[in-house]
Amino acid sequence: MKTDPKTYVCPPDGLRDRIILITGASNGIGKALALRAASHGAKVILHGRNVAGLEAVYDEIVRSAGSRPSIAVMDLATAGSDAYVSLADSIEEEFGRIDGLVQNAAVLGQRLSIEQYDAAEWQRVLHVNLTAPFALTKVLLPLLRRSQDPSVIFTSSGVGREGRPYWGAYSVSKFGIEGLSQILSAETRHVPIRVNCVNPGPTRTGMRLQAYPAEDRNASKPPEEVLSPYLFLLGGDSRDVTGLSLDAQ
Ligand code: NDP
Repeated sequence: MKTDPKTYVCPPDGLRDRIILITGASNGIGKALALRAASHGAKVILHGRNVAGLEAVYDEIVRSAGSRPSIAVMDLATAGSDAYVSLADSIEEEFGRIDGLVQNAAVLGQRLSIEQYDAAEWQRVLHVNLTAPFALTKVLLPLLRRSQDPSVIFTSSGVGREGRPYWGAYSVSKFGIEGLSQILSAETRHVPIRVNCVNPGPTRTGMRLQAYPAEDRNASKPPEEVLSPYLFLLGGDSRDVTGLSLDAQ
């Protein structure tokens, strides 16, 4: 790979007319990516559970990029299979395909030892962070296959590559995401759909604050500064790149 994804500069129209669904677009990295992708010409589908938050991002995109995104409301903790099918159906009806799928939404869960970890919370975190991305990917694969250049991005973490004490279900879910990404990448090489993971690294969001409440807020980068690998993987400059796990920092 000639390009360094960490320093990649997306051309102004690098995502022109690409239909990109971003989960967890109401806040943090997902929100910053939605705004940036729209500014590069993408038609963005904003997914989240919080309607007011999504509408605020919608308004910001209309103001800054002049395009109208779509909104897909679905709580990943509670959605049943019908909700996934109806989300795919409405995207098919509106766009007929998907060019980019960014699996970004996640929850932190408890910062406790395995011995202290609550079993129901363990299940919730694994469900939102791992089972839901599987279910969403599965239901959207037919629409990704209709794209000329489809790209799936999963969101990993440093604790998804090396277990760290007191990161419990979150860490295990990110190990699972790395595995899901590798498996899907190998299974879709012939299609071809490219499938990669991005670890954004320490980023100044609500989740970071929850994980490190006492940390100096300036110790981590703002979400706007970790987007290069995402833009690289979503655009045509990464056409043959699949099966990688990239660091944004
Ligand atoms: P935030 O908490 O700021 O944003 C998470 C997003 O996911 C929000 O939009 C949130 O919605 C959404 N979400 C959470 N639960 C659900 C649910 N049940 N249904 C639908 N949407 C949901 O986190 P970040 O931006 O920091 O994290 C983005 C990704 O980056 C995550 O996968 C995280 O694990 C990963 N990451 C982050 C790091 C960091 O330092 N920030 C470091 C390494 C990885 P709502 O607005 O309603 O809460």
